[in-house]
Amino acid sequence: MSGTHDEKARILELRRLLDRANDAYYIENDPIMSDEEFDRLLKELQELEARHPELDDPNSPTRRVGGRPIEGFRTVEHRVPMLSIDNTYNEHDLCEWYERVLRLLGEDGEGLFARDTIDFCADPKIDGVAVSLRYEKGELVLASTRGDGRRGDDITHNVRTIRTVPLHLHSDTPPNVLEVRGEAFIPNDEFIKLNEQRAARGLELFMNPRNACAGTLKSLDPRVAARRHLGFLAHGYGEMDEGFAGGHMEFIARCRSLGIPASEHLTRCTNIDEILRAVHEFDRIRHTLPYATDGMVVRVDSFDAQRRLGTTSKAPRWIIAYKYPAEQKRTKLLAVDHQVGKTGRITPRAVMEPVLLSGTIVRHATLHNYGQIVKKDIRIGDTIEVTKAGEIIPYVLGVVFELRPKNARRIRPPDRCPVCAGPIEIDPPEAVDHPELETARLCINPECPAQVREKLIWFAGRGQMDIEGLGERTIDQIRATALDPDDALRIELGVPPEVPTIPLEHFADIFTLHRYRDALLMLDRMGEKKVDNLLQGIEAAKGRGMARVLAGMGIRHVGSATARQLARLFPDIDALLAAPLWMLMPKAVNQMSREKRRELTGSEDPIPDPPETGLGALTAPIVYAYLHSKPAQDTFRRLKKVGVSLASRDFRPHTSRDSKDSLPLAGKTVVVTGAIEGYDREEIREALERLGAHASTSVSRKTDILIVGENPGSKLAKARELGVEIWDRQRLKQETGL
Ligand SMILES: [Zn+2]
Repeated sequence: MSGTHDEKARILELRRLLDRANDAYYIENDPIMSDEEFDRLLKELQELEARHPELDDPNSPTRRVGGRPIEGFRTVEHRVPMLSIDNTYNEHDLCEWYERVLRLLGEDGEGLFARDTIDFCADPKIDGVAVSLRYEKGELVLASTRGDGRRGDDITHNVRTIRTVPLHLHSDTPPNVLEVRGEAFIPNDEFIKLNEQRAARGLELFMNPRNACAGTLKSLDPRVAARRHLGFLAHGYGEMDEGFAGGHMEFIARCRSLGIPASEHLTRCTNIDEILRAVHEFDRIRHTLPYATDGMVVRVDSFDAQRRLGTTSKAPRWIIAYKYPAEQKRTKLLAVDHQVGKTGRITPRAVMEPVLLSGTIVRHATLHNYGQIVKKDIRIGDTIEVTKAGEIIPYVLGVVFELRPKNARRIRPPDRCPVCAGPIEIDPPEAVDHPELETARLCINPECPAQVREKLIWFAGRGQMDIEGLGERTIDQIRATALDPDDALRIELGVPPEVPTIPLEHFADIFTLHRYRDALLMLDRMGEKKVDNLLQGIEAAKGRGMARVLAGMGIRHVGSATARQLARLFPDIDALLAAPLWMLMPKAVNQMSREKRRELTGSEDPIPDPPETGLGALTAPIVYAYLHSKPAQDTFRRLKKVGVSLASRDFRPHTSRDSKDSLPLAGKTVVVTGAIEGYDREEIREALERLGAHASTSVSRKTDILIVGENPGSKLAKARELGVEIWDRQRLKQETGL
């Protein structure tokens, strides 16, 4: 009994201690214990809390590292609306706003707001996400997004992980209610790291820190936010006790004394000259800050004056955001490299002489596409102008032609994929002759490492290899084992740090997953049954045959219908690869001129009874080139090596009489009526044709055999009438093995 009592006391003690240590470290920058000690005490607290669920406290320091994921977002109403702020991009507008404020306040009959008594403050405008924190009796009870200004989403689970946000206010006599509005943000180094990780995985990059932060706060799993080390700075108020503060400077000072962080660059100004000076001075230093800013927010300090100025239909009159113009710089283009995205798109990237642009040293900038390079006539050696979109992603505006050196070199787009050396395709096709029209250049190698995720998903999917249990999430989870143990995406996908790397880069890797059964079992939501079903599904897929493999490879112009048609013509991949180009497009060959036909096939005569392949004179050469490329050869070789059958299950010889005569149904005209277990209508027809039969749909005197399945139709009676041989399911199996 007393043990339990001690444990409860210990829980409360640890919570107090860890809260103090957290705030000392993150808010006061004055640590009171080592990281190791902190981790040890936190672990002790986690264990004790697990034994005492009755002592659950949503503001326990253990929630800082992320609690359980939530099911979905709850909408909450803002008691005081979170209004948006008017923006201005030039100093003239800022001066006009200033004069308007003075005029409106000067119209006050009682002369409370004399021109020289009005204080303003200027505060950094952080490129983050507006968040409202609500404290009741000193406890954080709610954190919400701005939403539409009247209603937002409850994101308390994620905001608790922001180490600088106090879970309890630092006061013995805290206000009853205090709502603090501020900006949650992702620090620059975290933003860059996050995008690097995403780029390495072929995922879409976040455009700017604001998007990254918004994405993080909208995660259901607080461990994601905990790993991204978000920050928060207060800049406004919602509901609060009467008399808490009389103006903005006082409000921020009181928030600070309660442990809530605010910007140290908040500046009091008494006139427009001081406002402009604050704006200019901040512009000089803002790029040295660890987070992104894009302007300054200027407001009237006094809450009385704010109330008097009021709000227009859109925004408050007492506050305005001044945004800095995007910086442009000149530098020299040294080279162009070529990057491949997840869809195979190849994007040219400028390699430049390093230049300081909006606070960071920039060496690379996007050139968007090869058509742009031609249109803007950009050459290596040129002096180019660069800027940053959204203050983060640099791009090339154009060339300073007066400064073009004599030896400036034209940029040659790659004619092979720079990652895998696979063949490429140009979009739109006219751009081959008119390069200025080019909007995209694509690597069409399905196993290109740059696009491997999408390709794996397609390969394993229904209609292709149809591997039960190998969906998008499982593929992502397995591939995440190659990431750093503390990678946010890895955590998001539920891959514990102790799981070793499970290779999944090539189609063939799927068929070696059975060697990693133990590792697969360690993944989130991968129980014994699920893993074994997955491995069985993979084993079964080895025998799906050539048509499914070809369709699964995602070769351009080879869908499942074309894949099946090719598999009817060729008994296996080797036969397909040995075939000359014209055999991939026999119908098109017959439409060619005699000379062209002789050139291609060696004979002027049309091909008798040409089979349909689904490929024509334009598409067949592309498919042929791909099948004979090194990447395709590698794929076939690797698949064979891991035991995947590349033999056709659809092969229907129609040239070789000999082999056909030896088949069990050779030369027989066969009709099926009713359902045959294990086959659909088309499948049974194909299966019979593989056995040499001519499958027909109606019973006549020419019919040799009628196969009767479940619920036969009128054909049975007719067959009896004509004396046709009748097979039931049993007989079919005996005779043919079907
Ligand atoms: Zn490639």
